[in-house]
Amino acid sequence: MSNQEYGNTGLPIFKYHLDPIRSKVIETSDTQCKCCGISRGWIYTGPVYAEQEFYEQLCPWCIADGNANAKFDASFVDDIGIGSGDGWDSVPQSVVDEITKQTPSFAGLQQEQWWTHCGDAAQFVDYAGHDELIEFGTECIEIMKRYWDLESEEDWELMFEAMKKNCSPVAYVFRCLKCGAYGGYWDAD
Ligand SMILES: [Zn+2]
Ligand SMILES: [Zn+2]
Repeated sequence: MSNQEYGNTGLPIFKYHLDPIRSKVIETSDTQCKCCGISRGWIYTGPVYAEQEFYEQLCPWCIADGNANAKFDASFVDDIGIGSGDGWDSVPQSVVDEITKQTPSFAGLQQEQWWTHCGDAAQFVDYAGHDELIEFGTECIEIMKRYWDLESEEDWELMFEAMKKNCSPVAYVFRCLKCGAYGGYWDAD
């Protein structure tokens, strides 16, 4: 998985989010950023938690440098979701802060969770359906399977077969920055 195309845009690089253009939370737009007041050609379209409404009103730079957080107490990921899964690692507060305050989220069907591994938060890679998950490998599929305590193997097979990228049910794939393993979770609406 490479994000070379993203790297060529001049947008800030986010350690914990591989390619926010591909995950459709950073899009081209003429909108003036509510934080820096500049129309930079790009706007963040993912979830924002703040007193005011900031939907499609913050630029990626004001997320990356922490200004949107400092100025409006805006956060982008709910800290409750970080490392929330059964058996997922807990992570240092500094990591929680970087994810919540300086990292674009992704668009989950339900409250976003953030996979953790090797004592660190993992990097969000992409949404995935059945076919994409097969490419991420059996280890990744096993982690997805364990996320919900399903009644039977058949229940899982039905869900797995039905998974589609950008649809429901859908998997959210992350990559561990320490060991390179793929994992994450899935949900449905
Ligand atoms: Zn800005
Ligand atoms: Zn790991």
